[in-house]
Amino acid sequence: YESHWEDAFDRRVNAGGKMPLGLKRKSLRVLVTGGAGFVGSHLVDRLMERGDSVIVVDNFFTGKKDNLVHHFGNPRFELIRHDVVEPILLEVDQIYHLACPASPVHYKFNPVKTIKTNVAGTLNMLGLAKRVGARFLLTSTSEVYGDPLQHPQSETYWGNVNPIGVRSCYDEGKRTAETLTMDYHRGLGIEVRIARIFNTYGPRMCIDDGRVVSNFVAQALRKEPLTVYGDGKQTRSFQYVADLVEGLMRLMEGEHVGPFNLGNPGEFTMLELAKVVQEVIDPKARIEFRPNTEDDPHKRKPDITKAKRLLGWEPTVTLRKGLPRMVADFRQRIFGDQKEEGG
Ligand code: NAD
Ligand code: UDP
Ligand code: UDP
Repeated sequence: YESHWEDAFDRRVNAGGKMPLGLKRKSLRVLVTGGAGFVGSHLVDRLMERGDSVIVVDNFFTGKKDNLVHHFGNPRFELIRHDVVEPILLEVDQIYHLACPASPVHYKFNPVKTIKTNVAGTLNMLGLAKRVGARFLLTSTSEVYGDPLQHPQSETYWGNVNPIGVRSCYDEGKRTAETLTMDYHRGLGIEVRIARIFNTYGPRMCIDDGRVVSNFVAQALRKEPLTVYGDGKQTRSFQYVADLVEGLMRLMEGEHVGPFNLGNPGEFTMLELAKVVQEVIDPKARIEFRPNTEDDPHKRKPDITKAKRLLGWEPTVTLRKGLPRMVADFRQRIFGDQKEEGG
């Protein structure tokens, strides 16, 4: 394949890595599973920008062609409709494995499918990595910590997960995916990386995916009440998607396996989040309480000491800075749609 050199990329990525500044880097063939989704499509943008050849594999369960349409026609870009539960033969240098629904509403929709995606899907991508000698990065989740008894959570914590609960298709699925990843690494010498991603928000989230930030933003824009589940005192820590993508790329390019927590340590109760949404969108937005979902973790906040030290990474976008960028995207999609529907 064609070699391509990117000075801008060298300066950005190699600043924290091992390659000396100015040393030029070969363009890579990169597979992004789940690349039509929220996080995946932003990652694809960055990889395309740095001059790589990108193959996206996605079954469009929650992803959309719309998220990638701006790359159609670029000879370095390829989109394949495929379910990772089935084997596939491709030749690539790196695999970012994201394919898996991330919103609780989506992953509970067909729990057996979620487990299959995490187990069979991850196994297939590791088999592919083994066959072609590619480096493999797993996007795991803060949900491996379950309803955590340690706060904030560091990577050494083993978690508190209900193995038979309604969230376990995802939590235990991702825990098994981590196990598979480490066993391919230890047993077969595959180069692997593991990221444990904490709640992430930004443009291109599905508008009605049930996650709290997308729900509140869409509700405030539509002048509907913000639905706070339970007493609203449970906490989450919200990371802007561009920070996450930077962290994923540093992890892939660096020399540490992980796992690494990638998240923003700024912690908010759901009531505090609702207040920030009111400030940013509509001070008059009402709050409505709803019963909480089963097994909802009471608190979540990443300890990112390890990522800071070994990847030179930390988030730079606060919730108050990131939220308006997402609101602009949601506003356009929600009111654009309404205009079309209304003729
Ligand atoms: P998303 O739902 O927007 O994206 C997931 C993508 O995977 C979608 O495009 C979907 O169509 C695709 N997909 C699902 N099952 C598939 C299958 N069997 N075969 C092929 N494609 C499949 O979610 P996201 O927020 O972009 O999350 C991406 C990854 O990051 C997921 O693995 C998720 O578990 C992880 N993660 C995300 C968050 C977050 O807050 N966004 C937090 C923790 C972990
Ligand atoms: N696999 C795949 N693409 C490849 C290589 C393997 O999808 O290029 C799948 C393969 O079908 C198997 C899984 O990955 O289901 C694990 O492969 P591996 O070679 O590690 O195990 P084996 O096939 O020997 O059980
Ligand atoms: N939540 C809420 N209102 C909503 C959606 C979610 O109060 O409309 C709460 C939910 O109960 C949980 C938190 O927000 O405590 C985060 O939920 P989300 O589904 O976004 O992600 P999770 O971190 O649970 O995977």
